[in-house]
Amino acid sequence: MLLIKNVLLPDFDTLTTAPADLLIENGRFAAIAPQLSAQCETLDAHGMLALPGMADIHTHMVQSLTKGPLDDMNITQWLQKMLAAQWSLTADEWYYGVLLGCLQSLRYGVTAVNEMTYFPHIDAVVQAYQDAGLRVTFGIGATDIAENDQIKVTSVDECLRQAEYLYDRWHGKGLLRTAAVPQGRPACTPELMVALKQFARERGLVYHTHLAEGKAETERVRQWTGRGEAEELAHLGVLDENTILAHSIWLSDSEIDLLAQTKAVVAHCPSTNMKLSDGAPRIAQMLNAGVRVGFGCDGEASSANRDLLREARHGSYLQKVLTLDPTVLPAGQCYRMLTETGMAALGYRDLGKIAVGYQADFSLVRTDDLSTVNHRRILTNLLYAGSGSQVASVFVRGRRVVRNGRFTEHDVGRVLEQCERILAKLEARM
Ligand SMILES: [Zn+2]
Repeated sequence: MLLIKNVLLPDFDTLTTAPADLLIENGRFAAIAPQLSAQCETLDAHGMLALPGMADIHTHMVQSLTKGPLDDMNITQWLQKMLAAQWSLTADEWYYGVLLGCLQSLRYGVTAVNEMTYFPHIDAVVQAYQDAGLRVTFGIGATDIAENDQIKVTSVDECLRQAEYLYDRWHGKGLLRTAAVPQGRPACTPELMVALKQFARERGLVYHTHLAEGKAETERVRQWTGRGEAEELAHLGVLDENTILAHSIWLSDSEIDLLAQTKAVVAHCPSTNMKLSDGAPRIAQMLNAGVRVGFGCDGEASSANRDLLREARHGSYLQKVLTLDPTVLPAGQCYRMLTETGMAALGYRDLGKIAVGYQADFSLVRTDDLSTVNHRRILTNLLYAGSGSQVASVFVRGRRVVRNGRFTEHDVGRVLEQCERILAKLEARM
């Protein structure tokens, strides 16, 4: 049992905060009230904002190792070099790349991520997820069409075998869940898209894919099928409330309506979209049409960012400039997308809110920062002027994994040392 006194509880409707005490028992919020007392470990969190654990719903963690050397390249060159670097990694290098990404997410108050990863060295990858200590939904980015000479294609049967291998070994184990993860229609035959959806439906899993990210790739799908990419996925019957679609840029108005009707979730990754000059998805229009949207940092090779609060700021600003309307994606809506919508997209019914009965995934955020000063504007200032670095403590299932900005179970200095050793070798290979 843990009693946290004097936190500031956020209200995303009014964008205000109110002081409260939180009692945590068996990994859940047992009581929340202005004044609580209990005979147990007590923590005074005066001046700290309590923020629900955030969900990053589109990531490729291993790319934490390729942040930097792939900056400012055109997308064709970028994809070739990124994949060549990735295939050159050893099991040990995969482990540290994934651990580096996961620790950054946790450090910024993200307690659940949705990972598209790859099969070589999968044991090392999963070990990194488990050691990091956050919730990971993951699957192998399956592809059976070679978009370039660095793509490794896998048959439909083999993709299913890999998905089954993951499911049997790790689904529901600790904080892990597995998913069915075709890379996207430009890289997958209809047979593969459909087979993995069936696999996911039979087991109640998340189905996670890229949608209409590149203009050229979206055009290619139209040439093959006569349909837009979202129309094609609807035609294949793979869109439903358990489908997560990263990017979703090159869509028609009627395709946006399709996403709303099918309840599929869009993972908005604005840093990648801007940095790779993919284009700007019409998120404000999607939200208006009733599409469910969460945020994703994507891989750092493209976004250079694991700070999900910063991602939401980028997302809000991008929509304001795209629509020439400063009222779209207001702060309260961004916080909901970061927490409730993101967690629901991953199938968590009891995460994304600080409420009695919910699992105690949350962070304590410093409000005494020079850049966010003004205790009447904590929420808007954190989103628009602050950063994830203000997160002081992070709790997953009631357990404190970050305390005063430091990991309770990781020696970050050692992780950085290992990563620097790997990066020196990797950059020489690249
Ligand atoms: Zn991606």
